[in-house]
Amino acid sequence: MTKQERYQKVLHYFETNVGLAETELNYGNPFELLVAVILSAQCTDKRVNLTTPKLFKDYPDAESMAAATPDTIFSYIRSISYPNNKAKHLVSMAKMLLNDFDEKIPSEVEQLVKLPGVGRKTANVVASVIYNKPTMAVDTHVFRVSNRIGLTNANNPLKCEKELVKFIPEQLIPRAHHWLILHGRYVCVARKPKCGECGIAELCNYFEKNFLKQKIKVTTVKQLKSKSYGKEKSKKISQKSGKKSSKKIS
Ligand code: SF4
Repeated sequence: MTKQERYQKVLHYFETNVGLAETELNYGNPFELLVAVILSAQCTDKRVNLTTPKLFKDYPDAESMAAATPDTIFSYIRSISYPNNKAKHLVSMAKMLLNDFDEKIPSEVEQLVKLPGVGRKTANVVASVIYNKPTMAVDTHVFRVSNRIGLTNANNPLKCEKELVKFIPEQLIPRAHHWLILHGRYVCVARKPKCGECGIAELCNYFEKNFLKQKIKVTTVKQLKSKSYGKEKSKKISQKSGKKSSKKIS
């Protein structure tokens, strides 16, 4: 299978079986999304979603957050990873938004990364989710899943990003970002990927190397493949249930 074919088939699978995929961070406007994405660095979306309602209620915009002290913001986000740094970044970010960007969240990655606390990954997420730009944010899930499947052969996130945007059609990039994240979060998990539940096993390099080439009984592999394709899998991913099937190979 050529790389192009692998991309086409993997994207077709996700488009057919998952379709719409969105960020799991809760937000009501672009400012809230930017804050939530900054908070989500090295932290789970679930934890961020538990924290942000009160923060957003008391600091709904750049103006109010810019007037706060980092110590005050810290008290709201203390249960999140790296609260000290993130509190400082949020206040500085709000000040810069107010002073340099007329409170408007920039749409270009090059502008977004000027904001304190905003790295390339965060900028790509914001540009993609708010402005539907064809930017690919490479987090730990996207990096791991892309390399395992064989979509990329990258040793760092930037290389991974460049390979993905080269092969994925522009209009699909924002959704492909979420497809890969959800697949990594619920199926192709870090320690023990659930290959027996995976709808793209037959397109995956990792599966081929670790199972097909190790001569697993052909009947078992066939059963697994037929079991994993179809609507049931998409429901599992889109509902984010992460439930295990009864048959596993890993
Ligand atoms: S077959 Fe396994 S390694 Fe490959 S994408 Fe699916 S879960 Fe991940």
